[in-house]
Amino acid sequence: MPADPILFTASDLDRWEETGGRLSPPARLAVIGDPVAHSLSPEMHNPALRACGIDAQYVRLHLRPDEFCAALPKLKALGFIGCNCTIPHKFMALEAVDEVHPAARRVGAVNTLIFRPDGVLLGRNSDAPGFLRTVREEFGREVKDLRILVPGAGGGAGAAVATVCAMEGCRELILTNRTNAKVEQVARSLAGLPGGSVTTVLPWTDEALADALPRVDLIVNCTSLGMNPGDPEVVPHRLLQPHHLVCDMVYKPLLTPLVAAARNAGARAINGIPMLLWQGVYAFEWWFDRPAPVAAMRGGLAGLLGSV
Ligand code: NAP
Repeated sequence: MPADPILFTASDLDRWEETGGRLSPPARLAVIGDPVAHSLSPEMHNPALRACGIDAQYVRLHLRPDEFCAALPKLKALGFIGCNCTIPHKFMALEAVDEVHPAARRVGAVNTLIFRPDGVLLGRNSDAPGFLRTVREEFGREVKDLRILVPGAGGGAGAAVATVCAMEGCRELILTNRTNAKVEQVARSLAGLPGGSVTTVLPWTDEALADALPRVDLIVNCTSLGMNPGDPEVVPHRLLQPHHLVCDMVYKPLLTPLVAAARNAGARAINGIPMLLWQGVYAFEWWFDRPAPVAAMRGGLAGLLGSV
């Protein structure tokens, strides 16, 4: 048995009766990632399943990119209801599902898989509505009123955030990404959207950020920077100012370097836990076609939500 009793791998799927098949309640939902051991989605969804009296359990599934597509029919055969996809699978998931919801197609990334009773595997994206809800609940602000910088806009979460900001017609949208080609592609995909936000792509340089940050209201870190000790700064910490709102998608460690630096600068900052909650609420509602038990989900994350 692994140290984490609900962490499984591709090879576990091939001998499920001896591995995940022994769980009670049965494993029917999973977060799929590489890495995935850090994911707190089970801590949020399992209390929700219990609160609703649903005989199912949510587990972690470590799949490498070359294992992802082959695992999907296995999960379907094992009776899974759905999955969440995290780094680095959100783009591959878009290609791997049978049907993509139009909102996820616009975002260009899938983070929620739904194994429908008719056999169709549907891909949706809960990062986009989850982000809007996070900004409203945590900062009491509407995205449309803000000038927003999105480092990591070329990644799965970043594309979702950029798309939803553009669709909401945010006052200004500034995108940047280590790999420029990826963010240029996201920016092109925003061109035809109805919101009409002024969108700029910045080079991934301190100089460009120093120029832009004074006019930015909200910084949304959509890179995975901060997860590993010694990671470079997402934006130079010396450029953070008290008027900034900072939303870090990263939640491991709970006090991320960006959140700590923003608070030191007098800014309001949150880690990725509220975003985890709200994107999870939408996913739960799509899987079960019923309101999510938000209090139970919050309870599962309690302490994490309250402590940082
Ligand atoms: P992804 O699609 O793999 O994107 C990763 C992003 O991070 C890309 O923009 C990538 O840039 C950038 N990046 C990685 N290493 C970097 C480095 N050393 N320097 C600069 N940029 C770097 O992953 P994702 O699904 O979007 O997730 C991104 C992060 O958000 C992860 O930490 C994930 O856990 C978190 N997240 C949290 C929530 C939540 O609910 N709190 C929801 C979604 C995502 P390149 O394009 O150059 O590779």
